[in-house]
Amino acid sequence: MTVTLVEGLVLKNYNSFYYVQDNIKNLYECRIRGKVKTRIVSGDRVLITPLEDGKGVLEKLLPRKNELIRPKIANVSVVLIVMASEKPAPSLMLLDRLLFLTIYSKLSPVIVLNKSDLPWDNKARTIMDYYPRSGFEFIITSTKKGIGIEKLKETINNQIAVLAGPSGVGKSSLLNTLYDGRTVETQEISRKLGRGKHTTRHVELYPLNSGGWIADTPGFSVLELPSIRREDLTHYFPDFASYSNTCRFANCLHYKEKECGVKQAVLEETIIPERYNNYVAMLEEVIENERCYK
Ligand code: GDP
Ligand code: ZN
Repeated sequence: MTVTLVEGLVLKNYNSFYYVQDNIKNLYECRIRGKVKTRIVSGDRVLITPLEDGKGVLEKLLPRKNELIRPKIANVSVVLIVMASEKPAPSLMLLDRLLFLTIYSKLSPVIVLNKSDLPWDNKARTIMDYYPRSGFEFIITSTKKGIGIEKLKETINNQIAVLAGPSGVGKSSLLNTLYDGRTVETQEISRKLGRGKHTTRHVELYPLNSGGWIADTPGFSVLELPSIRREDLTHYFPDFASYSNTCRFANCLHYKEKECGVKQAVLEETIIPERYNNYVAMLEEVIENERCYK
């Protein structure tokens, strides 16, 4: 008798069991076949042999599209970069770093401005004015008022999403709002229980009824810049591209050069000075890193 293998997605790995969801949303608790040598992580697509009672055997890892290192998770498509319109006020430096890391990792960034029910900080207005106009995907949400949640679900659309952003902006609250099955600890609860959130837990993917999955652990916990060449940094600032056509030098760093289209756009404020300054700060870091590696 031949048993057909079933393709599925690893939602979590717990006590040497792998929880695998197939394409028609059955969940299998799987042990792993000894010959599978690669470490399997949440987000991996695998082949399993289904057994009785929702059990199965994980037979084979299918090719990964990509892999985040910290947290360990495979096949992510979307990074929801969450900022709050107030409490805490947005950090444009953090936003620009997260945008860079997302684009560098070949993932799609979506800027989520949460707590839109609160009065808006000036930085929140800047984000709202600049980023959508410059081609970034942008969603205004409030978990308190249920604003923007449908749009967020549409954006996730059968893909794997991770949340990123500073503490307190509402990542856990968004996860709870998107995933109506179970409650994940918010800051308040973990404070009451007197422990930090997400301490050395494995990543779990939560399947959304509307399609797609969202990871319960924020992405990009480490914000170090990868070692790239200084002339490559600008490639990860897609909003600079149309202005760099008029730079005098083809490999312009938009730094100390004269006749620079990007710097001209900053003078005319079509590129906001904050974003340009963040670019320069990152560029100087990249240059500093080049020195260290030499
Ligand atoms: P996290 O640290 O990013 O996971 O943030 P939490 O989800 O733990 O939320 C931090 C605080 O912000 C909690 O007190 C939430 O109740 C509150 N919060 C979350 N979303 C909203 C929102 O849309 N509006 C308002 N006013 N408060 C929110
Ligand atoms: Zn330039």
